[in-house]
Amino acid sequence: MNENILLVEDEEELCMTLGDRLRSEGYQVDVAMDGKAGSEKATQLAFDLIILDIMLPLRSGLEVCADIRLAGLATPILLLTALSQTVEKVVGLKLGADDYVTKPFDTLELMARVEALLRRTPGKLETENAGSSGLYKFGSIVVDARKTRVTRDGGIVNLASREFHLLRYFAEHPGITISRDELLLQVWGQKAGTFTRTVDVHVASLRQKLEVNPKEPELIITVPGIGYRFQT
Ligand code: CA
Repeated sequence: MNENILLVEDEEELCMTLGDRLRSEGYQVDVAMDGKAGSEKATQLAFDLIILDIMLPLRSGLEVCADIRLAGLATPILLLTALSQTVEKVVGLKLGADDYVTKPFDTLELMARVEALLRRTPGKLETENAGSSGLYKFGSIVVDARKTRVTRDGGIVNLASREFHLLRYFAEHPGITISRDELLLQVWGQKAGTFTRTVDVHVASLRQKLEVNPKEPELIITVPGIGYRFQT
């Protein structure tokens, strides 16, 4: 299980060095080099964290930040700002960004902020609760809660951190209907009502990785008007 980071940054060199550094720390990194692409990726794919530059072509980082929150997504956002952008920084935090670093930044400082934001994942501390063996089997899928590993037909399934926590929550509550609000609270630590699309985006991503036919899911069933049921 790797944490999945989206880096939205138009400076090619910074993209490369920062991307390499994040990968060397074990993160999966996806890159978008303008605001439009950043906004699209951020709202359509499941990420554990978004690193977002403010000065971007096509759509500013602030607009991207607003797009993400308006889409109902709770993904943590770390802004990259220039020294002169004090106002933008404040606006960004008001728009729902979680933290910021000022360019030029020290890489160690940035890594520390990234780790701090990712550590907010509430489920991470509870991994040991998952039964005595911590193993869940569903057909060809095995969820190993202790090793935070998922396999399908024996092959490793690469899940983002939140995807894993979501799947584990489903695995711990098979056969019952779980509301989006409950999932949001248990997996993201977010209060009900605000970020329900966060759940849907991550469920869609899990289906892509786990269902035989993601368009006709047999594992994670939609319960209209309520949420989802994990079918075993
Ligand atoms: Ca820039």
